[in-house]
Amino acid sequence: MAGKAVPERLIFSRKAAESHPTVVLFGGIHGNEPAGVLALERIAKWLPAEVEGNIYAFRGNLKGLAQKRRFISFDLNRIWGQEEFNLVRNTAPEELEDELLELSELLSEIDVILQKHGKRPVVFMDLHTTSAKSCSFLPFNDALMNRAIAERFPVPLILGIEEFLDGALMSYINDLNHPALAFEGGQHNDPAAIDQHESFVKLTLHHLHIVELDRVEKERLESMLKPPPKVQTGFYEILHRHLIPTGAEFIMEPGFENFDFVELDEALATQDGRVVSAPVSGQIFLPLYQPVGEDGFFIGRPVSAFWLRLSARLRKWRFQRVLAALPGISPHPARPRCYLVNPRVTRILSREVFHLLGFRIKKLEAERWLLVQRD
Ligand SMILES: [Zn+2]
Repeated sequence: MAGKAVPERLIFSRKAAESHPTVVLFGGIHGNEPAGVLALERIAKWLPAEVEGNIYAFRGNLKGLAQKRRFISFDLNRIWGQEEFNLVRNTAPEELEDELLELSELLSEIDVILQKHGKRPVVFMDLHTTSAKSCSFLPFNDALMNRAIAERFPVPLILGIEEFLDGALMSYINDLNHPALAFEGGQHNDPAAIDQHESFVKLTLHHLHIVELDRVEKERLESMLKPPPKVQTGFYEILHRHLIPTGAEFIMEPGFENFDFVELDEALATQDGRVVSAPVSGQIFLPLYQPVGEDGFFIGRPVSAFWLRLSARLRKWRFQRVLAALPGISPHPARPRCYLVNPRVTRILSREVFHLLGFRIKKLEAERWLLVQRD
């Protein structure tokens, strides 16, 4: 597969004593999003040889990056699931193609790192950009270990993206009980997005005590990351996702930026010639301005500090055990911290109750629901 144009997987690494913190950074999991990779290349030049931690920085989709395409055969951020793992494990590497080969290589890199450092939490960060104009934001699964890292950054923090995305790399890492967040650093190919990623990575290294920044530099980087005044920082919940049916022609109305306010019934797009309007008022994010992708847009809103504190407290009390003991909820036979749910239960208890306790609900096949527990 290796043509000259295909870059190396590892961008750089630094090794310190085993007892030091470890961070793993990915850029270009989507091949049309080079900003994260370019920022990591800058970080490699900026970093001193000796640092107070272990750092691994990887390119994601090598073939996609070389061809400037989001993906070749499969979206590399949607194939981190049991089915694909079985396929990859039961196939000789030379027979794997495109993203399945990328997946297999990344899996073994992650394996080696976790064997070496995994007794302590290893922090994973996945660097992305969006097709719409955007301030920086962090989408992640609502686990307390993720919140604790996310809340140090002065950007919108989007909880619970996994309910809408299957097979995301960061969900795979969270399932292994390590913190993992995605960072969206602006619009594809905007040079400012490289600066955003660079600031984010430097602050990450600082917060993990791997590299010490002085106060002036830290504040400078934070002010670079801050959204415009109309966009609130802090935690948001997702109210709605517009899924584009296979084969439908979806055209977003022009001019939407991430976190623009939209009103109930406002026309947002057309799909096969029909108007798609907002089913709720809120703030739009990830409006789709590229031909590939199945998510048309999301609508979210800030969550209250009360909700955040209450949900953290309930989870620390292990209140989830009460819920998991209800009739109609049984442990998943293969997946730890997952439960199968009778649809009766999901009709009685609202989604909000599950979210409060740190569960995410996903539909399996017809009439069966999967509960994923995040601490
Ligand atoms: Zn992406």
